Amino acid sequence: MPVAIYRFARDLRLEDHAGLSAASAHGDIAPALIVDRELEERLRCSPRRAAFFCGAVAALDAALRERGSALIVRRGEAPAELVRLAGELEAPAVVWSASYDRAGIAADADLQAAVEERGARAIAVHDAPAIPPEESTAARSSAGDGYRAFAPYYDVWRDLEPGSYEAPLLLSFIPAGLRSEALPAPADFGSSDHVPDGGAPRAREKLETFLRGTALQYSFAINVPADDLTSHLSADLTFGTIAARTVVRETRNRMDDPFLLSEERASLRLFIRALAMRDFFLQLSWYNPETSDTALQEKMRDFPFLQSHPHLEAWCQGRTGFPIVDAGMRQLRATGWMHPRVRAIAASFLCFDLGVDWRAGMAEWDRYLIEDDPALSVGNWQWIAGVGADLAAYPRIYNPYKQARRFDPGGSYTRKWISELAHGPARGLSETQQGSAQIELPLGGAERYPRPVIDHDRAARDFLARYQEFVTPAGGRRSSR
Ligand SMILES: Cc1cc2nc3c(=O)[nH]c(=O)nc-3n(C[C@H](O)[C@H](O)[C@H](O)COP(=O)(O)OP(=O)(O)OC[C@H]3O[C@@H](n4cnc5c(N)ncnc54)[C@H](O)[C@@H]3O)c2cc1C
Repeated sequence: MPVAIYRFARDLRLEDHAGLSAASAHGDIAPALIVDRELEERLRCSPRRAAFFCGAVAALDAALRERGSALIVRRGEAPAELVRLAGELEAPAVVWSASYDRAGIAADADLQAAVEERGARAIAVHDAPAIPPEESTAARSSAGDGYRAFAPYYDVWRDLEPGSYEAPLLLSFIPAGLRSEALPAPADFGSSDHVPDGGAPRAREKLETFLRGTALQYSFAINVPADDLTSHLSADLTFGTIAARTVVRETRNRMDDPFLLSEERASLRLFIRALAMRDFFLQLSWYNPETSDTALQEKMRDFPFLQSHPHLEAWCQGRTGFPIVDAGMRQLRATGWMHPRVRAIAASFLCFDLGVDWRAGMAEWDRYLIEDDPALSVGNWQWIAGVGADLAAYPRIYNPYKQARRFDPGGSYTRKWISELAHGPARGLSETQQGSAQIELPLGGAERYPRPVIDHDRAARDFLARYQEFVTPAGGRRSSR
């Protein structure tokens, strides 16, 4: 039986796996993991990400060992290592799952060239999205462009059925015994974090628990950061310990329950919409890889965002004096994750209140997030900064006071993450003082929590003036949005 090499990367599982399914058509599968420079950089960047990855790899190796196989770990440049391995095994095919960010797409192209030069087949498979980009764009007359707006994308996406590759028992792997280096450990990437009990089994368990319970209140969960009840599947999805297809399919199955209340059904629909958003950003980057560091909207490419700001460090450290923003930044630093609603508020604050470049915010978050998908991070940051796929007529500048009142009315979220406010009154902000940007400081740590570093109203208006001047300058050369 011939052997096909499967190169694992952001798809660390055996279940519902489009890549493994494709590889199995070419022979017994040799499961390989290459720790190359790009992977090392992504993991060195965030210690929690490194630990999560190592846990997921260990779980994958354990699953392979249960089947008499084992991961073949090599360190070095991916094309050279995989070509060498293909030579050792006389493998006619090397298969992997496609990347969606610019660096990943370029690395995939290099790998393809190297494998084909050796005379083997190079096969990159869409595994990360629930619906591959080509499927969602098939109905378009200019399919090669993809979608730049979410609404029409979602109209098409929601009628498509994700493929199913649910049969790992049918996959055949080569026996363990081939030369392999040690499994990666957090210390290899400068991380002293312990390896979490992670990987595919844990991700599956998380999904099942979520669908049994809090998914039915998802419409509330995304608006109540204090409850912390969204799925927390983002890191699993970016490392592929669970397939987005599985999540979409199981959520749709859950919707078949005839005993659901309409509110619960609406929650499940909203959750599926969140997964569509993920696919949307993946296809956006797939068709527009240059957006990794350039605005999607051409007319916004030269917008003069600031590269630094006297209060940038305060934003990074969660010390702006705006509790909802600071709580989010501190949650991120403490856990490697931030509630989705608060992400939008904290990012808006950076881009509009401080006027700082979205790329600076993205880089800062990358140092702490466990999630590892630049395509998703870029798409979201550009969306918030008003330079990407969100086609709103004006920048959506969030008022941190109003956002706090709406999404954290009891102040539980801010009190949880800001120790100085932990013993404060029920509300972190006084309604009457919002206009003057003052904080109702609680007893105890009152002196230590900073006062607001800026006047939100003034900053928002200044930004809008700069924006207006940019899109319709005095000479009227640029078109307005
Ligand atoms: C400025 C900003 C930056 C972000 N950066 C990232 C990032 O680097 N990586 C990342 O995975 N997500 C990012 N997001 C999207 C989203 O906030 C996270 O996916 C979400 O907070 C993860 O929590 P959860 O798993 O509980 O999500 P849930 O609300 O339970 O959603 C389920 C899943 O849907 C997907 N999803 C939901 N919303 C989005 C979205 N807006 N874009 C893409 N996928 C989505 C995620 O995979 C998520 O796990 C960002 C959002 C903003 C506003």
